Amino acid sequence: MFSKNLYNTKDARQWRQSLSSLLADKELGERIYTSRLIGQNPDLLMHGGGNTSVKVKRSDIFGNTEDIIHIKGSGWDLDTIEAAGLPGVRLKPLLKLKALKNLSDEDMVNIQRNNLIDSSSPNPSVETLLHAFLPHKFVDHTHATPFLILANLPNAREICEEIFSKKLAVIPYIMPGFKLAKKAESIFNKNPDVEGLLLLNHGHFTFGQTAQESYNRIISHTNAVAKYFGLKDQTKFGQKKGPIKNFEFFPVLRGLIAQINGGTDTGMPIFNFRNNSTIENFFNRTDLIKLQNRGMASPDHVIRTKGRPLFLTMNDIQNGSKKIRKKLQDFRSDYEKYFIRQVKKSKVSKKMLKADPKHVWLEGIGILGVGADAKSASIAADLAEQNVIVRDIGENFGGFYPIKEKDMFECEYWSLEQAKLGKGEPLKMQGKVVMITGGAGAIGLATAKAFSQLGASIFLVDKDKKMLRAAHRKLSKFDGFLSCDVTKKESARKAVEACTLQFGGLDILISNAGGATAGAMLEMNEKTFRNAFELNFFSHKSFALEATKILRLQNRGGKIIFNISKQAINPGENMGAYGIPKASTMFLMRQLALELGETGISVNGVNADRIRSGLLTDKFIKQRAKSRGVSEKAYMEGNLLKSEVTASHVADAFVALANMERTTGHVLTVDGGNTAAELR
Ligand code: ZN
Repeated sequence: MFSKNLYNTKDARQWRQSLSSLLADKELGERIYTSRLIGQNPDLLMHGGGNTSVKVKRSDIFGNTEDIIHIKGSGWDLDTIEAAGLPGVRLKPLLKLKALKNLSDEDMVNIQRNNLIDSSSPNPSVETLLHAFLPHKFVDHTHATPFLILANLPNAREICEEIFSKKLAVIPYIMPGFKLAKKAESIFNKNPDVEGLLLLNHGHFTFGQTAQESYNRIISHTNAVAKYFGLKDQTKFGQKKGPIKNFEFFPVLRGLIAQINGGTDTGMPIFNFRNNSTIENFFNRTDLIKLQNRGMASPDHVIRTKGRPLFLTMNDIQNGSKKIRKKLQDFRSDYEKYFIRQVKKSKVSKKMLKADPKHVWLEGIGILGVGADAKSASIAADLAEQNVIVRDIGENFGGFYPIKEKDMFECEYWSLEQAKLGKGEPLKMQGKVVMITGGAGAIGLATAKAFSQLGASIFLVDKDKKMLRAAHRKLSKFDGFLSCDVTKKESARKAVEACTLQFGGLDILISNAGGATAGAMLEMNEKTFRNAFELNFFSHKSFALEATKILRLQNRGGKIIFNISKQAINPGENMGAYGIPKASTMFLMRQLALELGETGISVNGVNADRIRSGLLTDKFIKQRAKSRGVSEKAYMEGNLLKSEVTASHVADAFVALANMERTTGHVLTVDGGNTAAELR
């Protein structure tokens, strides 16, 4: 079965009762339920592509009954939708619009907003009028994979009739909005018995008197089309078959895209890599160059994927940065030409968007989604993956012929589409990949959270698997992690490789893992001392060197920051096995700052002291305080500022150093003030 029918009467009943005992709320509850069922299946719709509605009756403040349409609001995804994501709009004023010949997008949005029953609701979908003009109580709209194949075939009408006989009406391609709603309504009126609509080059609509009826039709229609094309199972999006050998071109490509974007330090893209047998088979086709330039399967993909992929052949990849740069330059100039060609025909003046690729075909290897952050890269990769399936099968069944360039341009530069991407200044660390060793500990996790809040993508490395998983749960699902012992020979290489495969590269290394071995130098055996060096010096060296390889390939600078320690300059009793390697790490920092300066890579360190963590446990604090004859509080506040220093203060120092563009070879002290540990 391509798409399982997941409707469950018991769940539906629960959802019906989830809001209030009002009939309108019961219907809205049911609407939420089947909207979620649809949204949770990526083969039906992905990333804001698609919407659902229900028409209900509600009393206004004067007690008059009104017809209200609840329709998906922009900014909400169906898989997690709630009542607030389905704003109510007065239906009557919307229906009055049918009498108009033309209606501008601005007027359409304004009228929809003016008739919201809750003025604080999000903007109703751009497809609201299409839902409103259909007479049915429940209306569902998807961009299902099988329907995208069908919708882009040159003979889609005939095949639709072959599969559905007269059950579906076919609507020609028109950009979403007033005109499409009018057209769909007039075609529906001529075929009032249909169960749904096929929108050419766009997607699928169904409707019904109940949520279940409309949902059943979504599933049965989708399965009927899937069967026609021989699609058996649901697509497993997001698969990675495993590491690839020549991943070194990822950072090269990443750096070059940033360069093409024109930024000096900002503007690094994040990648999302996919490979599976479907993608591999696709790259065996001999018509890839032709297919590359055809356009995307649904008009709303374009804002996230651009109209075509960057296509890198094996030859490009093997020949390194020169070839890749040339391909990117060609991509840019083609995009500029497309913009100029189309903007001339457009009535309104427009500013060209960035000319960087949003998805990449890597011949024989896989595909990449490219985004400003990990989430948008993942969205682009999902859509790129879906497009590979649609093109592959469509081409075998008569041809993949999506919307024309002019229509694509209108969608890409349509303000209502661009609004889906959200506005506002990007976060300070957006596009930065930060690897943190010892990432599951107190300081590591606090640092991860601090960078994450600023928009960075995080890759945690830690030995403790359980703690690592718990730490990752506190971050975003798009962040990554790897469990390894940083003192083992291959760990640094493996961690940097895993991070590069996940995000495309690395920008900031926080080399933080460490651990204290207490004991007097004269009594310590050689092995214990050497082990302390492995952890507190050699692991820093190997992670820094492996990170440097990636930073150099990116050729966009980068930052390496060590957690050094107050011990590096202020020896403590019985702390020799900790202080001596840490002192060496401080010198490593200075040496690397000297050697890497000309590549724009800065190397700095943080000297922290007396932080509650896995290293300084509550038990240890108790012992220390007791041996000094002071309270635990006094012990922790035993600094010039008389205040306990926490992991988040250390995290602030790492972030501060990462933000400092003209500082290298520097140590930032975070110890509340300690004259003996001041750097002179
Ligand atoms: Zn749509």
